[in-house]
Amino acid sequence: LVKPAALFGEGRENSVGFDLSDETSLARIGDARAVDLPEARPLIAGATSGETHPVLNPATGAQIGAVTEADAATIEAALAAAAPWAAPVSERAATLRRAAELYEENFGVIFAALAREAGKCLPDAVGELREAVDFLRYYAAEAERIAPAPLGVVSAISPWNFPLAIFTGQIAAALAAGNGVLAKPAEQTPIIATLAVELLHRAGVPRAVLQLLPGQGATVGAALTSDPRVAGVVFTGSTETARLIRSAMATHLAPGAPLIAETGGLNAMIVDSTALPEQAVRDIVASAFRSAGQRCSALRCLYLQEDIAPHVIEMIRGAMDELRLGDPWDLETDVGPVIDEEARGPILAHIEAARAEGRILHELAAPASGTFVAPTLIRVPGIAALGREIFGPVLHLATFRAEELYDVIGAINATGYGLTFGLHSRIDTRVQEVADLVHAGNLYINRNQIGAVVGSQPFGGEGLSGTGPKAGGPLYLPRLSAPHPAGAAT
Ligand code: GLU
Repeated sequence: LVKPAALFGEGRENSVGFDLSDETSLARIGDARAVDLPEARPLIAGATSGETHPVLNPATGAQIGAVTEADAATIEAALAAAAPWAAPVSERAATLRRAAELYEENFGVIFAALAREAGKCLPDAVGELREAVDFLRYYAAEAERIAPAPLGVVSAISPWNFPLAIFTGQIAAALAAGNGVLAKPAEQTPIIATLAVELLHRAGVPRAVLQLLPGQGATVGAALTSDPRVAGVVFTGSTETARLIRSAMATHLAPGAPLIAETGGLNAMIVDSTALPEQAVRDIVASAFRSAGQRCSALRCLYLQEDIAPHVIEMIRGAMDELRLGDPWDLETDVGPVIDEEARGPILAHIEAARAEGRILHELAAPASGTFVAPTLIRVPGIAALGREIFGPVLHLATFRAEELYDVIGAINATGYGLTFGLHSRIDTRVQEVADLVHAGNLYINRNQIGAVVGSQPFGGEGLSGTGPKAGGPLYLPRLSAPHPAGAAT
């Protein structure tokens, strides 16, 4: 057998990932299909209590396990026990690297949990594990580089769309800086979070330093953002929730307590008439439909220059027809289910509204069972018509004439969001000019606009899309650190 360390690469480099064409690796993944998943529960330094609910597989609706949600007494016990990580930076970094190794060694159960609990297709699960491991190693190395001093205890509130990578990234950064962490995973993905925290504890993170509190936003989330014992909050999720968190923090936390919020996007791509159609179409389809469109980086509104539009639309239709929907664990599957019925309802309503107006340009068929949404292409006059982020496999398309380029850029900026932006053009001066004019955290030129790589492509937005600093970049740890480390000259 090939050792996982060899499959993932070693040291501080970005992990090389997992070869899904290698028979040996595939056999080992196959064995994990039926593996037992842990029961999701609070993991704190003390006794816990709370109600237990079923956890469902979004693809099948089948119960895959259970979660015990933290009740008020458990939340209070965790807050009372929470402590910064007193270990020296070298030990913190070594512990995070050990956790990275444990993550890699346990890839089977991690992939199984990502598929069963979050509906992640295998290539997405591989990417997610890589990113989680990269965050652990990157922030370990950053901590060694800048030797930060902790703020105190930080709340980490994470989303279901990257239930391992973003969950781990928030925690790894806060821990690397020496903070204690109270982690609240998304309601939909507590099992993956339990698995991850168990591995972090096994690597040597003390239980009082990292505590897991599964539960609802209205209970756990509210408590973790409105308690004066909390020194800062890291959040990824919706813009509306970020606003609620900021207001709770303003009322209850110290005035200087930082909030790092990474929120939604209304991401556009412009494809002009000099683009290479084959390359653009591949990148459009990946950006819009990979991960069932459930990335905040995903492409939502494509602007095609009018003279190439008929040809490129035909090619997009053809490329969409190649997408396979189905069992996330099946290697043939490109598009899995959306996370749950509550998420699916508004996406389907949006598609039906477009259908009533005769604006559907193309759509696939979705499997009859499970929370699937068929990839759909919808004609719109422009990005303003979207109004809000549609968090699923729905691509909106508008056309523009050469002389309208600046109006298009104006419309994109006017959404107020600023997360990712894509441009396909072969005119160097235009690339530079558009890149300068568009307000977005991450700009992608002549490539797809998802899958930012830790370390080399720090990820995060501006405006309604987030506070910065970018995740996986050098400004992140300082934001979670005390401004004047003890003993430092000021
Ligand atoms: N970092 C991810 C990407 O570049 C997106 C993160 C998110 O969806 O929150 O695709």
